[in-house]
Amino acid sequence: MKSYRKELHFMIPSRRGIINITPKVREAIRESGIREGLVLVNPMHITASVFINDDESGLHRDYELWLEKLAPEKPYEQYHHNGYEDNADAHLKRTIMGREVVAAITNGDLDFGTWEQIFYFEFDGKRDKRVLIKIIGE
Ligand code: ZN
Repeated sequence: MKSYRKELHFMIPSRRGIINITPKVREAIRESGIREGLVLVNPMHITASVFINDDESGLHRDYELWLEKLAPEKPYEQYHHNGYEDNADAHLKRTIMGREVVAAITNGDLDFGTWEQIFYFEFDGKRDKRVLIKIIGE
C-alpha cells in the first residue's frame, strides 16, 4: 500500500468564507500516483470545516445565514468561551459542518456523484490555516 501526504494553506481575508478545493484534491491524487484508494481531507484547525456539497452560490449564502441563526457571531459576550478570544461561534459552526471528508479514489480520480464538490469553510479567518490531504491505496 502507498500513502501520500500534502498540506494546503489558506489565508481567508474575511472572518468567514467558502473555497472549492476539489481541483487541489484532484491534483494531490495525481501527484500521489494512487489509482485505487481513499482520500482524507481535514482542516488542521478547530474553527474550520471541510465538507462535500453543491458548488452553488445561493446555497453557500444559505449556509452562512443558517449557521448565523444556530451560532450567531455576536454578541461575543453570550459565550463562555469568549473573553481571551472572540471565536466561540466559529468552534460551534465547525462542529455543525463537520471536521473532514473521506472520498473514494477509483481509476486515479475522485469517485464522485454529479454534483459533489469538496469545500473548505473558514469560520475564523484573517490568519494562515492548513488543510491536510492524506491518500492511501495502490
Ligand atoms: Zn477559541
